Parts: sequence; C-alpha cells; structure tokens
Amino acid sequence: MTAIIATSTIVHATPASYYSKVKSRYDYDEIASQLSKSNINFFVGGGEKYFNDRRDKRNLMNEMDDYLFANSLENFIKINSNKIGFLTDYDEPIGKHEGRKPSLEDIVQATVQKLSSFNKPFFLLVEGSQIDWGGHDNDSEHMISEMLEFDRTVGKVFNFAYKDKNTTVVITADHETGGLSIIDGNLKDSKVVNKYVSGSHTATMVPIFSFGPYSSLFNGIYDNTEIFDKLEAIIIK
Ligand SMILES: [Zn+2]
Repeated sequence: MTAIIATSTIVHATPASYYSKVKSRYDYDEIASQLSKSNINFFVGGGEKYFNDRRDKRNLMNEMDDYLFANSLENFIKINSNKIGFLTDYDEPIGKHEGRKPSLEDIVQATVQKLSSFNKPFFLLVEGSQIDWGGHDNDSEHMISEMLEFDRTVGKVFNFAYKDKNTTVVITADHETGGLSIIDGNLKDSKVVNKYVSGSHTATMVPIFSFGPYSSLFNGIYDNTEIFDKLEAIIIK
C-alpha cells in the first residue's frame, strides 16, 4: 500500500519524484498524467488544476475511475476505498501562518489509519513542503509555523511506529534553504532571532533521523542520493 502527502501541490518536485519520470520538474500536466496511472492508493496535496483544468482539456479526475475523490478531511476519512485522491487546493495551498487547513498532522494520522487497516506492508511519503518556501522568503513566521506543524506530524507518525514496532521512520530534508543562523533568543518567551545569508538553497549539511527496524542504515555522513538506495534496500528486504 502506498500514500503520498504534501503541503504543496501533489505534482511539486518532491512528491512527483516518487511516482513520475519527466525531463523537467515543471512539466506539471505530464506529471499529473503519470500520477493518474501510478496506482498510488492515497494522495493528498494541492494542484487540482493539473487534473481538471489542463491545457490538453483532459479531465484526469474523470479518467481515474478506480479512484474516489474527497473534498474535505472528514470526507477523506469517511470514504471506504483503497484508492482515494484528496486535492486540497486548486493551486498551491496557502501557508500555515496564513491559516492552511486541514492540518498536516490530521491528514497524516487519517492516512496512517487507512494504510494500516489493510494489514499489508505500506510506504508513506510526507513532505512538509513549505518549510523551504519560508527559507526562500527569509520569512521566519512562515518557516517556523511550517516546521512546528511538521514536528507535530512526526509525533503522530511516532505514535503509530512505537506501538507497531515494525515500521521504519526516516526524517530528513533534501537541503537547507536560506542559510539560517539563530543568533540570539529568549527561552522564557520561546523566541529566536534569525539571520539569513541566502534566498536560495545552501550546502549546509542537513540531519537525517531514523527510527525502527533498519534505522542503523542511516548512520553517518553521505550524499543524499544514497537515501534512495537505503530506502529501496529496506523495501526489498
Ligand atoms: Zn526551494
């Protein structure tokens, strides 16, 4: 069983890399067509326009007749199907600091419940997509609110993994964005003072945290392309 969840559009670079192969990450219409044929069981993210308001006038949501489409989290939870799409926005979802709903932790909790109900192995990808966007804009309010939501989401995943005892959890970033330094702060008020040195991606090393069976595969320092091989090794085992 498979599921992909993002707080960007579902055709954005990170989610797309798990189910599509294209020359450019910006071939969004083509990426959506490949998603429509990918057999992913559950997908949640923005970008409805790449499915039903396309340049080629195809309506992928009509073509995907083995899927049911949810229009709210309540609806997503209620639908009893092994193939569900939940397109959370016509285009890019708004930022957490602007009031994005439903919350990533609630979406992920509902999806883990669905995936585990089939009593089969499952793979779930969750991207906290907009942490990067806060970094690009040097916007600490955006970045911190996205990071806190992602942290709560990791908590929900751990609640499952601790009990299940047979789930590997891997948490990482594809890169740092903004060259963020914390130069001052105040523990009492829970405030930090940030400084950025870039509006783009940086070469700062990023952590990789892992939990559960095979978590020791993720020790040490290595190129991020190795994460693909490590994840594949776990799935093949
Ligand atoms: Zn970026």
